[in-house]
Amino acid sequence: MFPARAHREYPHRYRLEAGQCKKCGKVVFPRRLICPVCGHREFGKVILPDTGKLVSYSVIRVAPSQFTDEAPYAIGIAELTNGVKLMAQVADCDVDNIKVGMDIRIEFRRIQTDGHHGVLSYGYKFVPKWY
Ligand code: ZN
Repeated sequence: MFPARAHREYPHRYRLEAGQCKKCGKVVFPRRLICPVCGHREFGKVILPDTGKLVSYSVIRVAPSQFTDEAPYAIGIAELTNGVKLMAQVADCDVDNIKVGMDIRIEFRRIQTDGHHGVLSYGYKFVPKWY
């Protein structure tokens, strides 16, 4: 059975669907009900670009229990080509090779397996563009 919460989040998580404020133009991701800049409540739908540059990252060496097997890994912030910033794990890259300013693309990957139910959760990760 597919969990209700994951099902509800499917569209914007899998298609990088963001909201754009109809008043001030601010792009928000994930989508929200109220614009954080001007307080407006009407949004249009925009699809985010899937490429950008890494602007910051942090290496996790002591991971929460469900991610122990993956440590060390890096969580980064990327600025997409339209200026929107996202946070995600940096995948397919040795943590020592990660550099601020490197080009990344966004891919959907398995995030974790729920050990009790065998449910896989998927989400976006940053992958260095040279891979
Ligand atoms: Zn706004």
